[in-house]
Amino acid sequence: MWTKGLYLWGIILIVLLLIFPSFSQAAKNTNNSPRIFIQYFGKPTVCRQTTNDQVNIFGWGGWKMQSGLTDYRINYSTMPSYLPRELVTAVFDLSFSTLQGAGGGILFHSAGSSTESSPSNNGQNTIMWKALPVGYVAITYIWTDANGRLAGADTIFNTRYRWSYTHYTGSNDCGGLKSTFDLRDVATHEFGHWMGLGDLYNLEARDLTMYGYASRGELKKSTLGLGDITGARAVWP
Ligand SMILES: [Zn+2]
Repeated sequence: MWTKGLYLWGIILIVLLLIFPSFSQAAKNTNNSPRIFIQYFGKPTVCRQTTNDQVNIFGWGGWKMQSGLTDYRINYSTMPSYLPRELVTAVFDLSFSTLQGAGGGILFHSAGSSTESSPSNNGQNTIMWKALPVGYVAITYIWTDANGRLAGADTIFNTRYRWSYTHYTGSNDCGGLKSTFDLRDVATHEFGHWMGLGDLYNLEARDLTMYGYASRGELKKSTLGLGDITGARAVWP
């Protein structure tokens, strides 16, 4: 009698899940695993002058940002000691400004420092440094909510590589320090993922910010190409 009751409840639960598949879907989404985007070193390993940043292609990561402001924080304690804190703060502000400028509004808000030192979906969007595998320049982790909106983002820059900043003039595409990765160049790409843009790994996209390979001395990702602008407007909340 008792086991028969249990059996009945099991059937009722299965029927409910069949009728309301969104129930099980929502339960899955609240504890979802992140989407991970890797910016690789190389291919080609030497930066080349821009030939066509007017290719009109972009990839959509599958989510949009929240319509309100998204905070970002920097874990300064993980930063290489040779990088000045003020410079890093200013460079990241520039990268976020460039991206939101494509849509003509404000989406990102600098919220100071963070103590988060490994990626987690804790509601704090943190930019940090860690030793990543060789060949990975930077990684971005994205979490989304059940409505397909950004729930969390963390970006990690690889401490295995040397970082620097060179002002981009619009024509010095590969004019950064040759032995380093340019912080603004790589960051603008990574924060493009925060907006909802995906990676482009085909050679046709090599002059766009969302090209998934980075070179030492490269600066051209600091400004957006046509495809990046089209993409930023398409994913605008
Ligand atoms: Zn990427």
